[in-house]
Amino acid sequence: HEASMIERRQRLLGPAYRLFYERPIEVVRGEGVWLYDRDGKAYLDAYNNVASLGHCHPRVVDAICRQVATLATNTRYLHESVLIYAEQLLATMPSELGHLMFTCTGSDANDLAVRIARSFTGGEGVIVTETAYHGITKIVAEFSPSLGPSVDLGPHVRTVPAPDSYRSPTGDLATEFTVAVEAAIRDLRRHGIKPALFICDSIFSSDGVFGEQPGFLKGAVDAIRAAGGLYIADEVQPGFGRTGDAMWGFQRHGVIPDIVTLGKPMGNGFPVAGIVVRPEVIDEFGRKARYFNTFGGNAVAAEAARAVLSAIQDEDLMRNARMSGAYLKDGIKALAQRHDAIGDVRGAGLFVGVEIVSDRSTRTPDARTCTRIVNGLREAGVLISACGPSANVLKIRPPLVFTTENADFLIERLDRVMMST
Ligand code: PMP
Repeated sequence: HEASMIERRQRLLGPAYRLFYERPIEVVRGEGVWLYDRDGKAYLDAYNNVASLGHCHPRVVDAICRQVATLATNTRYLHESVLIYAEQLLATMPSELGHLMFTCTGSDANDLAVRIARSFTGGEGVIVTETAYHGITKIVAEFSPSLGPSVDLGPHVRTVPAPDSYRSPTGDLATEFTVAVEAAIRDLRRHGIKPALFICDSIFSSDGVFGEQPGFLKGAVDAIRAAGGLYIADEVQPGFGRTGDAMWGFQRHGVIPDIVTLGKPMGNGFPVAGIVVRPEVIDEFGRKARYFNTFGGNAVAAEAARAVLSAIQDEDLMRNARMSGAYLKDGIKALAQRHDAIGDVRGAGLFVGVEIVSDRSTRTPDARTCTRIVNGLREAGVLISACGPSANVLKIRPPLVFTTENADFLIERLDRVMMST
């Protein structure tokens, strides 16, 4: 059955799609932290952070069903759902960030953010980290180096090394990162390109999960502003409480962005995304441009998003992310005493990165062992992924309802798989 589905996929969907595992899984149902395949086998889902309340959270399912059975309208009409949600979401942000605009995906949120930033600054230049991913539209793919050789970075794009806490030469991430962003600004200028923005995901999720130490972004943000550009916080990965200590990743750095972009967990699987922006930044763009996104801000999306944010708040999921995340990280650190391949365990809340190395003293990345662990865990019933410039960092992002029992399960399986790889 699996083989015939893979053949049909290739025939019907074409060659551009990738499957993650060596032995792909057909998932047919999800509930809480678990995904189930056709044979009823359960997998602990620590792979993606879309269903961050757990799969098919009843509150979100109810909200979607209720609204879709009543009316699925768009922002051409007055509808209160988007306003209720905007009030609720903006209340979680610093007061400087006054407007919410809806999109359907993280990519079109970043696309819109860039257009606004360019309109506001009159600049073109974009600064990102070396293995960043910000999305798939043409504009955004041009500054998503993790897409690899299939996409050329734009001539107006400069990359800076991620703030790699594991290999930092000085240990002073703030200074190192600021110096790198300043150099990128100078290089843009040398080529006659005016900087428009610096965008980063404060947990550096594609770069290898480097957001454990908070507070190091301020210098980079000050530098881009001094150069006339904006700071865009891509909260698609760190946002909505995942880091446990803040609702938004940028808050951990004591900075206030000009534009925040949102996606993935915002609808717990229902497609809803958006941007939050300072009024003065959107002012001119808003007067010139007409913005309409057919499905962005439809009433069903707004109700789904409202249920998600309410559940995060009412069920105190940030606290759970903090507690379970710390427990998970400690458990994996304890494993490092037995497994030399574990070079570093880092992360914030329920976003954990585990660096797999062939030699601890040289910190040499070991992508092959990392791949073997990811595939071994899949066989053992745990789903995670890998990231980083050398594809050697285990990326662990379970739903925010993840318990310490779930963590024990993951740690025990990881131990077992590492023993046999
Ligand atoms: N930004 C970041 C940091 C992401 O991880 C992603 C998706 N992986 C995106 C933007 C793009 O989101 P989407 O796939 O919803 O377009």
